[in-house]
Amino acid sequence: MFSKILIANRGEIACRVMRTAKRLGVKTVAVYSDADASALHRLEADEVVHLPGNLPRETYLVMEKILAAAKATGAEAIHPGYGFLSENALFAERVKEAGLTFIGPPASAIAAMGSKSAAKARMEKAGVPLVPGYHGDDQNDAVLAAAAVRIGFPVLLKATAGGGGKGMRVVPNEAAFQDALAAARREATSSFGDATMLVEKYLTRPRHVEVQVFCDRHGNGVYLFERDCSIQRRHQKIVEEAPAPGLSQELRARMGESAVQAARAIGYEGAGTIEFLLDEDGSYYFMEMNTRLQVEHPVTEFIVGEDLVEWQLRVASGERLPKLQQELAIHGHAIEVRLCAEDAENGYLPSTGTLKLMRAPALGDGVRLDTGVREGDAVTPFYDPMIAKLIAHGATREEAATKLARALEAFRIAGLKTNAALLHRVVSSAPFREADLDTRFLERHAELLKVDEHLRFPAAQIAAMVLAHDQVPVRSFTGEGGRSPWDQADGWEPAGPRLVPLMLEDKGEAKRFTLVHAGQRRYAITFGKHTAQAHLTPIAPEEGLYGYAIDGLEGQAYVHRVDDTIHVFLRGSHTALDLPAMRFDGKEKGAGDFKAPLHGRVVAHLVKAGAEVAEGTPVVVLEAMKMEHQILAPHAGTVKTFLVAEGALVEEGTLLLEFIKA
Ligand code: ADP
Repeated sequence: MFSKILIANRGEIACRVMRTAKRLGVKTVAVYSDADASALHRLEADEVVHLPGNLPRETYLVMEKILAAAKATGAEAIHPGYGFLSENALFAERVKEAGLTFIGPPASAIAAMGSKSAAKARMEKAGVPLVPGYHGDDQNDAVLAAAAVRIGFPVLLKATAGGGGKGMRVVPNEAAFQDALAAARREATSSFGDATMLVEKYLTRPRHVEVQVFCDRHGNGVYLFERDCSIQRRHQKIVEEAPAPGLSQELRARMGESAVQAARAIGYEGAGTIEFLLDEDGSYYFMEMNTRLQVEHPVTEFIVGEDLVEWQLRVASGERLPKLQQELAIHGHAIEVRLCAEDAENGYLPSTGTLKLMRAPALGDGVRLDTGVREGDAVTPFYDPMIAKLIAHGATREEAATKLARALEAFRIAGLKTNAALLHRVVSSAPFREADLDTRFLERHAELLKVDEHLRFPAAQIAAMVLAHDQVPVRSFTGEGGRSPWDQADGWEPAGPRLVPLMLEDKGEAKRFTLVHAGQRRYAITFGKHTAQAHLTPIAPEEGLYGYAIDGLEGQAYVHRVDDTIHVFLRGSHTALDLPAMRFDGKEKGAGDFKAPLHGRVVAHLVKAGAEVAEGTPVVVLEAMKMEHQILAPHAGTVKTFLVAEGALVEEGTLLLEFIKA
C-alpha cells in the first residue's frame, strides 16, 4: 500500500478519496485553487499545495503543476477522482513517466475508450452488442446523412469526443438532419475542439443501465453488478440506483459478463463502468466506457458492502482484487440523488451563491452524505454545481426510497436555488415507486417539474406560529432574566388570549396574519377571511424542528431564520418568507409616518426630542423577531416628541413619534 497519495481533484470526490486513505493509514496531499482556499478538501488533507488561479485550465487541469506538487510533497501515487484529468491518457502516461503511480487504468486503456467511435469499433470486435449506428472516420455530410437513412430515423448524433451530454442532437427525420449536424458540430467544436460525429439509432424508451467492473494486473476481472441511471435531465443523471429494478438474474449475469469482456478487451485495470442502453425488449447495447470512478459509485458500495476507493488503492498498488465474482452478492437496494445548485423548475438554470444554510439530515443507519461543502461556503461558477450526493440503503427498494425521501425532507439548504424539491418529488412519486424508468422519465412526468405551490400557505402559517412563539419570552419586559415566568418553557401564559399581528413577505407580496394565542402553544391563525386552528410543538428548536397541527393536519417542519428571511422546509418543499424591511421608505406607510412596522419593543431613542436630523439619521431602535432594527428618518426634519417610551412594547402600526418634515 502507498504511504502518501495526491488527490488531483476538489469537492466531494476529493473528500471521499481522503476518507478511505485516512482509514487505511495513507497520508493525503490536496491541491487547491484560489477559490478553494478554505474548501473542505483542503482542510481535510495532511498536506496541501496551492494552484494559483481559479479556472480549471489554470489549476486542476494543469498536468505540470499537479506533477510538481506530487514531487514536492513526496506523494507516490495520484488519484484523479472524476472529471478534470481522470480520463486523460496523456496525463496517465506522464504520471508514469514521472515515476509515480496513476490510480486508474493504463494510458492505453483510457485512450482505447477516449473516443466514443474508437471505443465502439473495439467493442464490436470484442463481440459486445452495439447500438446500431455509424462510427466511421469518413465525416462527409453525405456519408453521415446516408448512414442516418440506413439506420432509420429518429437518430442521435453524438460527438465522439463528447461527455456530459454535450454535442448531442436527436434528429427526428431526414429533413432536419443537416441543421442538426451543423449544430452538433458547433457544440462539439466549442466544448471538445473536435467535431467528429457518430450516428446512432435513437432508442425511444431505453433505460440507462451501467455495470461496475474492476480488474487487477493479475488477470482477475469482476463485475459489481449494475446501476440504473435512467432519471436524467439534459442527458445527465440526477437519480441513480443499484441494483437495476426488474432485471432478471440471467440478464444481470449476461450484462455483467459482457462488461468484464469489454474491459478485458482493452487490458483494463482498476475501476471502470460500462454504460449500456437497455431496450424495452431486453436487448442491451454498449454505449461507452468511463475509465474512472463514477459519481454514483456509492450505491454500488452500499449493495456490495465494499469500499471501491479501497479497491482502487489496493489494485493500483499491485494487490489482487479483494474479492472474486462468486464472493460478491447484492444486499438490499440503494438510491442516490445529486443535489445541484440549479433552478430545476426554470429550465435547470445554474445557480451560484453562498450556502447561507446547509444542515444535513441524520446520517448513518443506511443514510450517507458525500459533500465537499458546508454552511457558509460559496458555490462558484468555476466548477461543478453539484452540492452533495445523498444516498440511502434499505432492505428493499421501497425502504431505500422512503429513507431517501425522509432524508431529503431534513436536508436544509438556503442561499441558492437547488433541485432538492424536484428530487423529493421524484423519489416520492408513484411512477418512481413503481420503477417505471426510462431516460425520458422527466419528460414523461413533466408534472414533477412543477413547484409545490400548495405547501407555501401552510409553510407561511407555520412560520407565523414559530415567530409568535419566539416572541413570548421577552426578558427585558420583566427585567428578571431567567427567573421570570416569561422565561419558563412550560407554557405558562398571562391571563387572557394574546394577539400577535405579523407580516411576512412571500415573493415580495405582503401577507398579513393575525394570531390569537390561547396558551399552550395553541393558535387561531387568521389570514384574510380564513381562520385556522393550529398548534405548535417545538421538537428540537435548536435544530429548527417543530411539530405542527393545522386544522387537524399534523406533521413536522424545519424553520430557520437567516438574516431577515424565514425558511420553512415542509414535506420536501422549501418556502422562503421575508420579514418586512424595517425601513420607512415613505412609500408604503405614508411619508414621515413613524409607525412600527412590526410587533416589537422600542429599545432606544437615538436622538433627543426636538432634535433636527438629516435624511437617513437613525432615530429609533426597535427590537422585533429577536433582532434589532434601526428606524431611519425618511427626510430631513425635526423629531418633535416620542410617543412610545424606551422599553415599551408596541403593536404593528403604532405611531412611535411625531416628526416635522423640513
Ligand atoms: P455523455 O458521454 O455525453 O454523457 P452518453 O453517450 O453517455 O453521453 O449518453 C448520455 C445519455 O444520452 C444516455 O444515458 C441516454 O440517456 C442518452 N442516449 C445516448 N445514446 C442514446 C441512444 N442511442 N438512444 C437514446 N438515448 C441515448
